[in-house]
Amino acid sequence: MIHRIEELFARQVSAWPQLAKGVEGLARAKTRRVRIDWFDVFVRHIPHRIGSTAARVDRESVAKRPCFLCEKNLPPEEEGVQIDENFAIYCNPFPIVDRHLTIVHREHRLQCIGNQFKSMLDLAAALPEYFVVYNGPECGASAPDHLHFQAGSRRLFPIGKDTAGLDGVAVPDYGRNVFFFRGRDQSALADRIARALDLLAAATSQRAEPLINIAVFCESGEWLTYLFPRGKHRPQVFYTGELTVSPAAIDLCGIFVVPLTQDFDKITGETIKAIFREVTLPDRQFNEVAARLESER
Ligand SMILES: [Zn+2]
Repeated sequence: MIHRIEELFARQVSAWPQLAKGVEGLARAKTRRVRIDWFDVFVRHIPHRIGSTAARVDRESVAKRPCFLCEKNLPPEEEGVQIDENFAIYCNPFPIVDRHLTIVHREHRLQCIGNQFKSMLDLAAALPEYFVVYNGPECGASAPDHLHFQAGSRRLFPIGKDTAGLDGVAVPDYGRNVFFFRGRDQSALADRIARALDLLAAATSQRAEPLINIAVFCESGEWLTYLFPRGKHRPQVFYTGELTVSPAAIDLCGIFVVPLTQDFDKITGETIKAIFREVTLPDRQFNEVAARLESER
């Protein structure tokens, strides 16, 4: 699979100008390492992310635009690699990380993790050098109307390093609330995630899916899964115009995307920590769910 993706990238970079431009833009992107408490966050200045960061994802705006993940709407130069009967892999023309992929379901159907978590684990196992992420329809997905994942090279994946050797359901003192699950048994892991989603839905009174971002990677037959429960989609500084940032899964994993130069120059670790705390689930609800999950281990 990795070999097929490398070939896809090579072909697409030469055949698809928009992707070539994105890859160039990423190569020029400045990255600044910021120390917060005991961990690092990598602030990355990527002007080409402005469209996603500021995307209108309300129902009306989404309904008005043609879906950019449906095969019939793709630019003629864009091609994908089919990985199973449901999903195909494409190169993301607005990359945040090296080898940034979008993994798209063949049908135009709502972004919903529901029964798809097993697919996500399959993907992570098929892409050993990568991480795979899911952004919920109300907290980061710029196509909330079309089921998709993203993946990227794990060469830079701060949370993986931060949680090496950890074995608990939460990551302590991490500046953001995140559940952590690891295991080699795929169906047991999928059951634990489903249970966490049920508890979160109940704790936050969400009828459909609780607000979540998920990241997972697979190493030596073991899956490591990060479930970020969200309290809200965008931080207050986004709406006041103070900072044009809108964190989703990759940001919460420690690669914080900043499209505007003035924001890149002024943002501090303290501000990022405050934004992480603001957008992830508040402590009281998080601790309740964590205690239940811990008691059921
Ligand atoms: Zn679509």
